[in-house]
Amino acid sequence: MAKETNQPAPQAGFQALISHCKEYGYIFQSSEIYDGLQAVYDYGQYGAQLKKNIRDYWWKSMTQLHDNIVGIDAAIFMHPTTWKASGHVDNFSDPMIDNKDSNKRYRVDHLIEAHAETLQEPAAGTLIAEMEALIARDDYAGLKNLIDSNNIKCAVSGTCNWTDVRQFNLMFSTEFGAVATEGEEDNKVYLRPETAQGIFVNFLNVQKTGRMKIPFGIAQTGKAFRNEIVARQFIFRMREFEQMEMQFFVRPGTQMEWYRYWKEQRRAWHESLGVPAEKLRFHDHVKLAHYADAALDIEFEFPFGWKELEGIHSRTDFDLKNHQEYSKKKMQYFDNDLNEEDKPYGNYIPYVVETSVGLDRLVLTILSLAYAEEKWNREDGSEDSRVVLRIPPRIAPLKLAVLPLTKKDGLPEIADALIKECKGDFHCFYEEKDSIGKRYRRMDAIGTPFCVTIDHQTKEDNTVTIRYRDTMVQERIPMADVRRLINEKIG
Ligand code: ATP
Repeated sequence: MAKETNQPAPQAGFQALISHCKEYGYIFQSSEIYDGLQAVYDYGQYGAQLKKNIRDYWWKSMTQLHDNIVGIDAAIFMHPTTWKASGHVDNFSDPMIDNKDSNKRYRVDHLIEAHAETLQEPAAGTLIAEMEALIARDDYAGLKNLIDSNNIKCAVSGTCNWTDVRQFNLMFSTEFGAVATEGEEDNKVYLRPETAQGIFVNFLNVQKTGRMKIPFGIAQTGKAFRNEIVARQFIFRMREFEQMEMQFFVRPGTQMEWYRYWKEQRRAWHESLGVPAEKLRFHDHVKLAHYADAALDIEFEFPFGWKELEGIHSRTDFDLKNHQEYSKKKMQYFDNDLNEEDKPYGNYIPYVVETSVGLDRLVLTILSLAYAEEKWNREDGSEDSRVVLRIPPRIAPLKLAVLPLTKKDGLPEIADALIKECKGDFHCFYEEKDSIGKRYRRMDAIGTPFCVTIDHQTKEDNTVTIRYRDTMVQERIPMADVRRLINEKIG
């Protein structure tokens, strides 16, 4: 069977993917019955399982396969001083500008970048370079001038009637306790904008109770919240999202070695999950965040272009040092393993290399790689087609569909027995409605890698037909082999 994968133009394909995610129970707009909430999404029955499978794969490779990394689960709410010490209250902001006629707010870099896209080279490149230089110097008046002198207009009002450029803090805040007094800052708490700080404030708890020796890591997965000004591109940029972070605590002076180590490790991890090497690249940061002495992004080629999937940051001792200063609690580590001559320096605040990946961006990575519209000619020359999610079997939400050919003659009972045998090991699905062909197509669209059909021959010789999603090949195998075979394929 000659099968031809028909990948539509990237943007068109992206819209088709978004519709597919909704139609097949992967991702829904949050509060959809109330017309949704911007840049917030809910995961449906298959999306939630896919996300969990990716999270579990990350957690296992970090904590179970490394004997010097342990996992924690810190709270979303943290003492407000945490965010003073981390620099987020003062620095976690983006420059933004409002159009006075439409009242629409823009992130300055997005506004200028969108204008640059309408220009020819070299004008476009020059504009971006000027913008980057101004952002690096925090020169807001310069950015305003750049917008004015290029006559950049608001897409809604069509005017150039702009406010000054201001900083907009991305943290969400709320009040703690029952009484909220106006103007009272004391009970203000933030929804964490990153999970990392939960690790830093627990550094000594974990190091002491786990008797951890440097170098060691603490891993965590969990929700983070950012009031993104322009949230777009589906689950790529959301206001509520999930991070998987690991802080690796090292001896001062060795951080570059570990930075290079984690850079390669993390890239290899993405490849092990099925992301092709040519769809990944490194992007070194020019403007470093307030806490970093080196930083890079692992970028993936999303349907809308190369964008950050994961960040690798050498955070120095910035966070622990500041928590020591603000909390007045020692954050030092006593290093017993140093050479005799280095012993006098054995008491230090560790340096940190961080790996930080967005779980939702990983889900989008996997789905955009998996989605394919295929067409081919049947043997009689007629055309056939399908939409398939080629999700790697190891992380696919459903592993096996068991399909009795008919609803009678004892076939459903045999299917039931097979599901009972397998469901302790992996997710199974039962379906008896519609023709087998239609049922296969539905399973292709959900991304189920294996279908097993129970027919009348099964009653005679205990064999079944197994059908593979990716090749559509079917073969007859003993029913007694199904469970072992699938366990091997997803192992
Ligand atoms: P960006 O430049 O895209 O805004 P960032 O550099 O602010 O991202 P980090 O602070 O390094 O991101 O966060 C680590 C990871 O968290 C990112 O690599 C990304 O995968 C994820 N992430 C950050 N912001 C969002 C968001 N708004 N929605 C979904 N994932 C996010």
